[in-house]
Amino acid sequence: MRVKFVAGNWKMNGDRAANEALLTALVPALSALSGIESVVCPPFVYLQQVKSLLGGTKTALGAQDLCQFGNGAYTGGVSAAMLRDAGCSHVIVGHSERRALFGETDDLVAEKFAVARGNGLVPVLCVGETLAERESGTTESVVDRQLQAVLQRCGISAFRGAVLAYEPVWAIGTGKTATPEQAQAVHAFIRSRLAGADAKVAAEVRIVYGGSVKAANAAQLFAMADIDGGLIGGAALVAEEFAAICRAAAQKH
Ligand code: PEP
Repeated sequence: MRVKFVAGNWKMNGDRAANEALLTALVPALSALSGIESVVCPPFVYLQQVKSLLGGTKTALGAQDLCQFGNGAYTGGVSAAMLRDAGCSHVIVGHSERRALFGETDDLVAEKFAVARGNGLVPVLCVGETLAERESGTTESVVDRQLQAVLQRCGISAFRGAVLAYEPVWAIGTGKTATPEQAQAVHAFIRSRLAGADAKVAAEVRIVYGGSVKAANAAQLFAMADIDGGLIGGAALVAEEFAAICRAAAQKH
């Protein structure tokens, strides 16, 4: 039985007042749940604030990105060691916005995954195809290419305890959700590719879905055999939505 995993990616949103209001509503709702893992991923500058608002709750703290280098002369970078020092246990790696808008290549994403692992952070590795790639029938080859880059750089053992997020780019922030069947098919494909390297790791790794997940569609997605939770963008900024998505993940499916 894989424990469901739900992460909120705040993206570049929030300010101190809004964060406080969000967490004040969210913390009691999440504290009432058991049987799931939840994580919130605010922008770097708010990690410390969110850490203290989370207090002693079970909800973990994650970052949205990390620098591939260790501490040193890398102006603007934030290292894995700094994330650990700030209280993070998780970090999103290879989000499609990083790939598309910040030029992150498969190799760079693989390097970041390695650095996260090497510093004791749980990477949440994002993979997914664009609309053009889906329409041209290349979804599996794109997702496989993104996956193989990390497998080749880090090996299958690095996936033990990691989280994968299948996020079709056409579904992120668009209000278009993949159907549970569409998402399940890609999740099963990812698991089968990992199983080719190690069946046990593949069976245990959490593969979560991201792309316009809301309270209204979460339960149907989470009921699919290979969907182990969600990576939530827009709905993570609304306490009641995020709490309801976490409640859907906590249900027995
Ligand atoms: C995301 O930011 O990873 C995401 C899935 O966003 P949204 O839920 O808004 O589509």
